[in-house]
Amino acid sequence: MFCMKALLVDERTLTFSKGELPIPQNGPDEVLVKVHAAALNHRDLNMPLFYKRMREQDASFPVSTYAVGADGAGIVESIGSNVRSWSIGDPVIWSSLAYCGVCSACLLGQNVACLKGNIMGSTGLNGTVAQYVAVPAKLLIPKPEHLDVKESAALSMGLGTAWRALITRGGLQPGETVLIQGIGGGVALFALQIAVSMGARVIVTSSSDEKLKQAMALGAAAGINYQSEDVVERVIDLTNGNGVDLVVDGGGSKTMPIAIQSVRDLGRVVNYGFVTGRTFTLDTYHLMIRQVSLVGTAMHTYSELVSAVRFFSNAKLRPVISKVFSLEDSLQGVEHLESGSHFGKIAIHMD
Ligand SMILES: [Zn+2]
Repeated sequence: MFCMKALLVDERTLTFSKGELPIPQNGPDEVLVKVHAAALNHRDLNMPLFYKRMREQDASFPVSTYAVGADGAGIVESIGSNVRSWSIGDPVIWSSLAYCGVCSACLLGQNVACLKGNIMGSTGLNGTVAQYVAVPAKLLIPKPEHLDVKESAALSMGLGTAWRALITRGGLQPGETVLIQGIGGGVALFALQIAVSMGARVIVTSSSDEKLKQAMALGAAAGINYQSEDVVERVIDLTNGNGVDLVVDGGGSKTMPIAIQSVRDLGRVVNYGFVTGRTFTLDTYHLMIRQVSLVGTAMHTYSELVSAVRFFSNAKLRPVISKVFSLEDSLQGVEHLESGSHFGKIAIHMD
């Protein structure tokens, strides 16, 4: 059996390590991709914790060691017997949500809520920080021509999630004002780039003046340091007393109350994460009297990612890369992600 190098996580101990796995065999509906670059997401840190919680509720929940990562870019190395649309040698990226296609959610076209789906880099499905990965052909997308392989690898999860949050769930229109809380992570930065390119006015928050400066260089109209300034007061000030049209929030407990107070009457708040915690107190006055819409979002459908990649390509946008590590040094990449000091994506190259 031939082996490949990979970045692994052991769910029993919640530890990351470099190791080896057998090179995967692609099934009849899959292709085998030689991965040239991968990228990390916050969910790569969260998944082992999520499964730990699942096992605390249900001891029979499976535990495993698997290759980390959902995002990547590479070259098709071999194709399954049923695959017609892709050829050996094609440069590709992919959506990492392996949906079943036949459950009630999938049949409604809502594969983001697939009842039997799994995400690459989870228990039962090896991830992309590895030399090879088997990918269902229905998830493949051509690699954008204007980006190098590391930039292409950085797109999938963050870009797709940002697109669904802003466009599908948030209903962003050109000319609107958007508040993006906590600029620096992948989703927030992709949301900033998309919104600016669409002609929206974007206000961002961070605890770092340096990150605010970098966001302004990417087109943000204003930056608010949430440690030294009152975010709600500044937002109301920046919007002539009205509040923003849309808030995109990945913070949860600490930032959702700020989001709700910063949005205008009849405005929308879209939440895609809970890095500061999951619960907060809601005054239903904001829902009934002010008619604010609170919407949740997670991941993306395949077609949303295709739209997002086309938009990114047509606008000649490039993802912000914080740092690039080799597979050999990929544990440092995990540390960089855990530190929260990154501005942009953390890419891993396999060569
Ligand atoms: Zn399904």
